[in-house]
Amino acid sequence: MAEQEQASEALPERPAAELLQEGAAALGIPLAPEELARYARYEQELSDWNQRMNLTATTDPREIAVKHILDSLTCFCAVSVDAGTRVLDVGTGAGFPGLVIKIHAPDAPVVLLDSTRKKLQFLEHLTGVLGLSGVETLHARAEEAGRDRRYRERFTLVVARAVAALRVLLELCLPFVRVGGAFLAMKGPRGDEEVGPARHALSVLGGEVERVVPLSLPFGAGERRLIVVRKRRPTPPAYPRQVGTPTRKPL
Ligand code: SAH
Repeated sequence: MAEQEQASEALPERPAAELLQEGAAALGIPLAPEELARYARYEQELSDWNQRMNLTATTDPREIAVKHILDSLTCFCAVSVDAGTRVLDVGTGAGFPGLVIKIHAPDAPVVLLDSTRKKLQFLEHLTGVLGLSGVETLHARAEEAGRDRRYRERFTLVVARAVAALRVLLELCLPFVRVGGAFLAMKGPRGDEEVGPARHALSVLGGEVERVVPLSLPFGAGERRLIVVRKRRPTPPAYPRQVGTPTRKPL
């Protein structure tokens, strides 16, 4: 299971919306009432669809609020997002963190990429229900979309959570980033340990680790490391390699 879903302390027995609002405030991210209403609907739809398809391991609204929504919001502790930020979430799954970024920063155009069509169907349903515009789903393997000139080097911020080890993720994600833009890898407590083995991938693909932001999720929900990679040079045309190769033979 994703590192984000590993067992940790039990969450307080309080309504999910309260945990989310207080937890976000503790991280320095105030949430507006309309925004909280959207997250509540997100939780409901996710639990509902989860009965038919496996979208997340947990259906407890408090776990969804803290381990998925609040965890996704931690992006804003590492990067800023505004109307000029073109965002891509690689391996978005049930929309984490990409759809949460869209809800918190609705002016930013967001693309949600995943290779599983049914997950994108859920996200299309959800964006309709939430009345969001400027959000696009992209059904593709990252290795293929990263070679497509409609997407290659077109984003100022690329994010990924729980998709692959950093050295693999860099090959999947950096091709999408414009020179000067950033890739944000959302990692668990041992994220720092992935930086050393990624050194070769960084130099080949044109990235540089700008900083690693350590943080603790509120309510004892776990330690996180947000790795911000700045793109310094264009990625050579040979990357990403064929589907599956980045995982099988990591740089
Ligand atoms: N980011 C979400 C989902 C993580 S699960 C979260 O944190 O909850 C990993 C997701 O990445 C899955 O939905 C899987 O379909 C997708 N994925 C894995 N490798 C991929 C690839 N090469 N291209 C596109 N999507 C990929």
